[in-house]
Amino acid sequence: MRPLPNNLVFREGVQVMRMDLHTHTEVSHDCRTRLRDIPAWMLRTNTRVIAVTDHDQQRGGPELARIVIDLGLDDRLSIIPGEEVTTSEGELIGLFLRERIPPGLTPEETVSEIKAQGGLVMLQHGFDPLKRYRLKPEATRRIADSVDIVETFNSRVSRHHWNLVAAAWARERNLPVCAGSDAHTLRDIGEAWVETPFRVIYSPADLLAALREGIVAGKWTHPVYAYGRKQWRTLNGRFRRDGEGQQG
Ligand SMILES: [Zn+2]
Repeated sequence: MRPLPNNLVFREGVQVMRMDLHTHTEVSHDCRTRLRDIPAWMLRTNTRVIAVTDHDQQRGGPELARIVIDLGLDDRLSIIPGEEVTTSEGELIGLFLRERIPPGLTPEETVSEIKAQGGLVMLQHGFDPLKRYRLKPEATRRIADSVDIVETFNSRVSRHHWNLVAAAWARERNLPVCAGSDAHTLRDIGEAWVETPFRVIYSPADLLAALREGIVAGKWTHPVYAYGRKQWRTLNGRFRRDGEGQQG
């Protein structure tokens, strides 16, 4: 086996890393990214922390964390188990979840489930009217006091403007902000990030501390382009996988 590339980045002598708090894997119905391909990609892109936030599924995070441990990379990579939960009024993300939260609960019930597990409530792409599954504005107002983190850079919003609206909303409430690629392919993981001094993230407190010292950044992708690229990469990935299969 070839050694994994280990991309170290320093700023003024301090090792920094990227965190991407909104990613999808093969555990999501609409994504084919294999869990076992993710650690090498994380090292290569210096995305040393990701939250696995599959649609209405929580098992991807723990499974990936296990893979990272088996590879002996748990002192370099952190996996936050999360879920993008479909509530009765749109989606919400829970981070640091111990168990799956079922879809279809009200936003308030979903928030209590997240908090009961000691998790953090993250409001993602919450302000883009073209995001079909965004949390409805009335619901956002009702749960505003329970939100722990606001995603102010999502690579998949219809216009970058909606990220600025999210940033203003977070600023008004003095809430920590984060970035999420909302990746549905391997190569999209790390397209939006928070850059912060390197550390291993074990707990909500670790994450909040890292966010406080972080800078949000990312690449915004036009939705039509993003869709085309996902189709292309999925197709390509399939060819590559078939090729690997033939080599045994
Ligand atoms: Zn998502």
